[in-house]
Formats: sequence, structure tokens, C-alpha cells
Amino acid sequence: DVQENVGRWENARLQPYGPLSLDPSTAVLHYGQEIFEGLKAYRHEDGSVWTFRPEANAARLNRSAQRLALPTLPEEVFVDSIRELVAQDQAWVPSGDGESLYMRPFMIGTEPFLGVRPSRQALYSVIASPAGNYFGSVEPVDIWLSRTYARAGTGGTGAAKCGGNYAASLVAQMEGDAHGCSQVVFLDPERDDAIEELGGMNVFFVFDDGRLVTPELTGTILEGITRDSVIQLAEERGLTVEQRAFTLDEWRDGVRSGHLTEVFACGTAAVIAPVRRLVSNDETIGPEDAQPGEVTMSIRQQLLDIQTGRAEDTHGWLTRLV
Ligand code: PMP
Repeated sequence: DVQENVGRWENARLQPYGPLSLDPSTAVLHYGQEIFEGLKAYRHEDGSVWTFRPEANAARLNRSAQRLALPTLPEEVFVDSIRELVAQDQAWVPSGDGESLYMRPFMIGTEPFLGVRPSRQALYSVIASPAGNYFGSVEPVDIWLSRTYARAGTGGTGAAKCGGNYAASLVAQMEGDAHGCSQVVFLDPERDDAIEELGGMNVFFVFDDGRLVTPELTGTILEGITRDSVIQLAEERGLTVEQRAFTLDEWRDGVRSGHLTEVFACGTAAVIAPVRRLVSNDETIGPEDAQPGEVTMSIRQQLLDIQTGRAEDTHGWLTRLV
């Protein structure tokens, strides 16, 4: 049982970026045993380098590992792996305004074997790449509603961060691109067309009475770390956050009545992105001239200020890497 291998991580090393050599029968290539994480390192004004809630990423990696029958990784191995990678060459971490180093830890089943069973070997690795400035002007995005394709179903892998979920979402992404939408949103057709999440972000709905609604964690959506942070920051401001099923009908009605005033998506890469309209083959929901909302932009700024060291980290969310 691969789970018994917990703690037997061996051969840790830093090596120059380059191709992996895999046997053509390697498990990951046939059965998709792959999981990953994404987090950012920011350089603060004094030159130190910090990352955001890495223990949450470690915990989610381990939940994904359990779902995909891969071995779990001790939290300290996870945090050390990103720290050592960053410390190897600090020049990697850009110091421009709003720039960061995006880090991508991932794990694959590496046993060469054609039978359908969990791999008895795994490779855990981290790669990283400088990421651009998200501080500039924030243009609201249009999102495409996929009616044809689901991302994940009950009992499936929707709550895991595994490559297969993204493989299943790519064709919907292509559809969205063809309709001028930069993101796709998925529905849960088993639950009255409840909104699930975007291809790579969670979603929030802001009402004019100080309520925020975000889809509850049903096991089919990813438990976003940005989502959790937004919930905490919103509640501290006295806003009410409802985690529950939010249907397409409610979205449409909220826009019609004028009570749904802002929609935003959130995730590690873009932090918080205002949403303009929902577009599908049947309808368009939302005003064409939608501007980024006040609540959206204010929570976004607060989160960015914490991550970049401009605001005090009162939640203990930051971990120093270098
Ligand atoms: N949902 C999906 C499908 C994602 O890929 C991501 C990005 N990891 C998120 C939500 C947001 O998660 P986080 O805030 O942890 O980046």
C-alpha cells in the first residue's frame, strides 16, 4: 500500500531545471496519478521573501494525495522544499511592484507498470517561475457558462487538485475562448444548476445588504486558500458570508433586481478578479459596462497588502522563506 510509504521520502536534491526521464509505462502517463499545488513568494520592502499560508497548501496536497492514492508528505518537507528552492537563488524572486515567484509543487506516480493499481513509487518536485504584476488596472472579466461539460461529479476528484480535473475542463475553456471569455464557470446539474467554481478560481457574489454568498464545499469544488482568506477578511469587516448552494436562477434574479451588485473570482494566481458578465449560448447575465466593485477591490487590496508586507499580518498567514 503506497500510503505505508509516508515518511520514506528519499533522494531529496536540488537540480538544474530540465526534462524528466520516464519509462513509457510509468503510471502517471496512463492513469493520471498527478496532483499539484500553486503558491507565490513575494519580496518585501526590506528584501526578505515570504509566502502565504503554505501549511494550507501542504494540507490540501495531502488531501489530494489521499484521493489519488499517492503518498502523503510531511508539512515540514513541503515547506522546506519551497524554502530551499527559493534560497538557492534569491534573484529568482522579482522585486518589481506586485511581482512574485509562482511556485508549483507537484507529485506523480512513477512506477513503471501497466496494471491498473496505485503506483508504489512517487516523485515529488517543485518548479518555479517569476510571475507578472497583478496590481495594475483590473478589467472585469466575462466568464463562459459550460452547459455541455461538467468538471467533477459527486464522489469524483473535484475537491482534489489533480491534473485530471483540468484535463476535463480544457474543452470548456476552448469554448469560452471562442466566445471571448477568459474563464469558464461550471454548474452542478444534480443540484438545481448550483454554481460550482471557475476553471481555476472560486467565486463570490456580493449583495447590497452586506451579504456575500459563495458556493459551499460539497466535495466537487476545490477548497481555495484565497476563498478561505476572503471569508475571514469579509467577516472581520462585519459582512455576512453565506456558504451555500447558489443557483444560476439566483444570479439572474439578483442582477435583474439590482441587489446582486458585485461578482468576483479568487485564486492564488490572480488573487481577486472582478467578474463582468456570465455568457452562455442562451443568455448573458450582467451589465456590459460593469466596473470593478467597491467590496471586491477593497478586499483585494487588503489581501495584496498582507501578502506583500504592506499591511500587518495579524492572522499569522505569512511564512518567511529567505
Ligand atoms: N478552484 C480551482 C479549480 C483552482 O484551480 C484554484 C487554484 N488553485 C482555485 C479554485 C483557487 O484556489 P487557491 O485560492 O488555493 O489558489
